[in-house]
Amino acid sequence: MRQIVFMKHLSVFETTTEDVESEIYDDKMERLFNELKTVFGKYDIKLSHYEAALFPMDKLSMCRCEECSQLMINRDVNPTKFGGSDHFEDSDSLCLDGGTHDGRELCEECLPINHRWGHFS
Ligand SMILES: [Zn+2]
Repeated sequence: MRQIVFMKHLSVFETTTEDVESEIYDDKMERLFNELKTVFGKYDIKLSHYEAALFPMDKLSMCRCEECSQLMINRDVNPTKFGGSDHFEDSDSLCLDGGTHDGRELCEECLPINHRWGHFS
C-alpha cells in the first residue's frame, strides 16, 4: 500500500527592510531552498515548496524575550497581536504572547503567572 508523508518545517530568521528591498532576502531564500532540495533529495524526499511571510517587527511590537530570547509580541502594547488576520498559519507557535514586567519585555513563559499574559511561571 502506498503512503505519503506531509512534513512541515518551521523556522524563523530576522532580516531587514533594506535586504528585502534590495532583493538580498529573495536571493538568500532561493539559494536556501535549492540547497534544501539537494539535501532532501539525498533521502529520496521531494521538497515541493516553501512558504514565508514577512512581519514588520516594530509595528507589531514583536521582539525577543529579554529572559529566554523567544520571539514574542508584547500584548501589553499590541493587544490584537496580528489584528485578527491569519497572516501565517503557524505564527502562534513561532511567536509567543508576552508583556512588560518591571520594565522588561518577557514572553508568556517568563512572565509571572499573575501577569495578564503570563501563563506558565
Ligand atoms: Zn521568555
